[in-house]
Amino acid sequence: MFQTEIINVCAAFSRRPVSPFYVVNYFHCVEVYNKKKMDEVKLPNEVKECDIIIIGCGLSGMTAAYEILKLEPSIKLFLLEAKDRIGGRTLTNEINIGGGQKEKFDLGGQWVASSQPDILEMLEELNIKTYPQFINGTKIMQVGHGNVIRTYKSDIPSLGSYWGVIELQLFIWKAEKLAKQISIEDPYLWDKAQEYDAMTMETFVRNNARSQSVRDTIQAACRSVIGADLDRVSALFFLAYANSAGGIMKLLMATENGAQELRVKGGTQQISEILADRVGRENVQLNQPVSAIYQDQTEFVTVHTLTGKIFRARHVIASIPPNCITRIQFSPPLSEDRKLLMDNMPVGHLTKFIITYDKTFWRENGFSGEIVSNGGGPLLTCSTGPISVVYDATTDKNVPALVGFIAGRPGVEWHRQTAEERRSSILGCLSEFFGSWALQPTSFTEKVWADEEYNGGCPVCFGVPGVMFTFSALRRPHGRIHWCGTETSTHWAGYLNGAVQSGRRAACEVMKLNGKNVTQLEKLVSRKPSADVDPPYSFPSLLTPIVVFLAVLAAFFSVYFF
Ligand SMILES: Cc1cc2nc3c(=O)[nH]c(=O)nc-3n(C[C@H](O)[C@H](O)[C@H](O)COP(=O)(O)OP(=O)(O)OC[C@H]3O[C@@H](n4cnc5c(N)ncnc54)[C@H](O)[C@@H]3O)c2cc1C
Repeated sequence: MFQTEIINVCAAFSRRPVSPFYVVNYFHCVEVYNKKKMDEVKLPNEVKECDIIIIGCGLSGMTAAYEILKLEPSIKLFLLEAKDRIGGRTLTNEINIGGGQKEKFDLGGQWVASSQPDILEMLEELNIKTYPQFINGTKIMQVGHGNVIRTYKSDIPSLGSYWGVIELQLFIWKAEKLAKQISIEDPYLWDKAQEYDAMTMETFVRNNARSQSVRDTIQAACRSVIGADLDRVSALFFLAYANSAGGIMKLLMATENGAQELRVKGGTQQISEILADRVGRENVQLNQPVSAIYQDQTEFVTVHTLTGKIFRARHVIASIPPNCITRIQFSPPLSEDRKLLMDNMPVGHLTKFIITYDKTFWRENGFSGEIVSNGGGPLLTCSTGPISVVYDATTDKNVPALVGFIAGRPGVEWHRQTAEERRSSILGCLSEFFGSWALQPTSFTEKVWADEEYNGGCPVCFGVPGVMFTFSALRRPHGRIHWCGTETSTHWAGYLNGAVQSGRRAACEVMKLNGKNVTQLEKLVSRKPSADVDPPYSFPSLLTPIVVFLAVLAAFFSVYFF
């Protein structure tokens, strides 16, 4: 009744019929304008019509658009992106490396792997090449009591004791065995789901690993994989997440099939850029943050943006991460299980840094560049030092570089410090690991993803304990709204592969409703991660310490008892 009166008043003022959407959007814009004093907010103009609206121009949204147009080139679609750029969590910047030279580096998603078919197919289709991550040489670990810095050359991590290595192996075996039983489609179908969702990963690790060095190693892994500490993550979520990649070891390794196996020549953001060229730049609308989505009894969905634009289509694909979905107004409202899930899938925290040097000093000193660290004790006003993991980032054009992350809780704590304090602490820590040459970079670049609007963190949104019974709502359409985005993927969720796979799946859903035959694409989407679990260490090398350990044990018992 109230709304009808407003419509009549507006109609009287403008001397023409006014739609309810015009009115709702008008008041929305006025509210936003008053609140934010945004100069660019305009009053609503005409409604733009199309067949499909895709919200978000990250890799998943761009993939959905590309696959839809491959299936049916006559489809009219619009892509609405909040930022002034395409690519979302992929961001390739040209960094000034001194001497007037520039080189491209990935400040967002970077690595791909042979076990990630969707992204590899996409790269091949777009004629983008990959090259292997450099891994040869001595690696560094700083975990366990005393924050001792240890080095190791073999596949076996240096944990300070053989028992630590064995305990880590036993932990991984147990976790892999459990993970294999849990489907990411609906983890709650597992018979132990409730028990494991009531537990944080911290509790799961404490129950299964006694030595501090093993716990620190798993903590560093969780921080860099999810961007959160073990005590924030549901054990059920973590195991299902790992299973979507084919196992925990796949998430951690830089060897064949591991998540850090391959780099992309020219960076990963170009994937979305090339896809934008293919779907037509005129269909991509940047600086259009979606604020509200309305579905009425008709067959249309109306999408409103903060700049006052209105779009209408038969279907919408929302490719935005869960932590951003909560900022959009839906009518009718989202289902209760989806709302609960979105409210409880916070985004992780990674600050990524790229440091370039004159030479690959670490390689010359026999190091691979790889560091895993628990932070090495308090520094400044933070509970640990800034470094979680570091890798060699030397480019295919041979520009020497290291890449690293301040991840999880340390990332949040170091966010309080100034950029200069982070820089000098990171370089100081690297000099402790490698030597004083580390203090003389040619450039230092950091990307604090917490400060990036319309992501607010990275690399992925994760499940906290107690809400996994709602997880199956993640992919369930809400009327004419379909969902994609790496979090909704069933194959390498959280990764570039997951973004492509989920974009393909959303394209299938919508095009099927449009009467298209999507059998071929559906086949790709329904592929499962390969079940094989690569052993973390080669068996002969692992057996050596085990045999030594058993021999010492046997000697000990024979001296005491016989
Ligand atoms: C530092 C970092 C390191 C990573 N490392 C790797 C790696 O090595 N390998 C790997 O495979 N993956 C990695 N990832 C993860 C990978 O980048 C992501 O999985 C992938 O890019 C996600 O794509 P997406 O399309 O699902 O989401 P996004 O890229 O986040 O795209 C979502 C888009 O929606 C837009 N949006 C949000 N809200 C709105 C709104 N209201 N209206 C309109 N648009 C909106 C956003 O601006 C964004 O462009 C990393 C990520 C980061 C940040």
